[in-house]
Amino acid sequence: MKFADEFRDRDKAAALVREIEKLCDGIETTRHRPLNIMEVCGGHTHSIFRYGLEGMLPPAIELVHGPGCPVCVLPMGRVDDCVAIAEQPGVIFTTFGDAMRVPGSRKSLMQAKADGADVRMVYSPMDALALARKNPGREVVFFGLGFETTMPSTALTVLQAEADGIENFSVFCNHITIVPTIKAILDSPDLHLDGFLGPGHVSMVIGTAPYEFIASFYRRPMVVAGFEPLDVLQSIWMILKQISEGRAEIENQYTRIVPEAGNDPALAAVAKVYELREFFEWRGLGSIDHSGVRVRDEYARFDAERKFSVPNIKIADPKSCQCGEVLKGVLKPWQCKVFGTLCTPETPLGALMVSPEGACAAYYQYGGVKRQAHNEAATAVS
Ligand code: SF4
Repeated sequence: MKFADEFRDRDKAAALVREIEKLCDGIETTRHRPLNIMEVCGGHTHSIFRYGLEGMLPPAIELVHGPGCPVCVLPMGRVDDCVAIAEQPGVIFTTFGDAMRVPGSRKSLMQAKADGADVRMVYSPMDALALARKNPGREVVFFGLGFETTMPSTALTVLQAEADGIENFSVFCNHITIVPTIKAILDSPDLHLDGFLGPGHVSMVIGTAPYEFIASFYRRPMVVAGFEPLDVLQSIWMILKQISEGRAEIENQYTRIVPEAGNDPALAAVAKVYELREFFEWRGLGSIDHSGVRVRDEYARFDAERKFSVPNIKIADPKSCQCGEVLKGVLKPWQCKVFGTLCTPETPLGALMVSPEGACAAYYQYGGVKRQAHNEAATAVS
């Protein structure tokens, strides 16, 4: 298949669902409880709701929406740090659009901009570097956010700034790593997961080998999946096939994009510029060992955390906010007390309602709530 619409073929999707149902019927566990399959990546969450995939699947499969949306796991204190940097005189603070609307304890970056801070949306860190070239009298800070998918572009921009001798550019590094987070989820007593849809974009950079422990130690299957509807359905079928045959392996459905060994130049840039932090704070998941990176000493002059005084204070989420439970898959988005009332995409209380990859925003936008409510009503009357 070459074109996107071929991966959205209704008849092929229906045929895959029939095969999924057959496999489910032969798996003993489904007689007692549904199989819990976590999609780690926010891009998958978005596809699942956009194309109504959850509603096509048999009740024997429960999709659990994981923590793979980097905007969603950004703790409130880090947003406060961004605002503190952006409000310093002479700073141009640059960021991807989604991050501008994430609430901090005082204000979001969008509100800081309305109050006079020079906050600008960019499409890549190279745009921020271009701004630094154009504004030699100002300090341009790029908000480095995201998993291994976006880490290389920030690293390459730092290397470019060094090569060009640019001194008024720095990165506020909040890049995070997916593997320790999956381990933390597997160790969580709240959750029993039967398999994972592996992240497609992250795996394009890191390959599939870093996930081997999931199969060898935890005995759970993972299938690295693409983002089109047939990709997701085929990957679910592959997970079920493993379960039905008593296997736990790391498989790659997204072979048209993901090389098994990862992307060497991207990994080399990452290794050159960053080192692992001892721990990093995640919204809703707490502190996870080695789950974030910082800029190495060799590139300290491009590190905003060293150039500016950053408050670095931990701020608890508002009491009504249940992002943590949703991020761990313990609650469905619509089960949060403030979903759709105090928390909507226009007035987000939590970060999961901000990004289109956030489970709450996806549920809100594509009507998952109505379907869930309908299913529950149907169960209640049957
Ligand atoms: S509805 Fe809002 S507060 Fe509740 S979990 Fe979702 S984003 Fe967080």
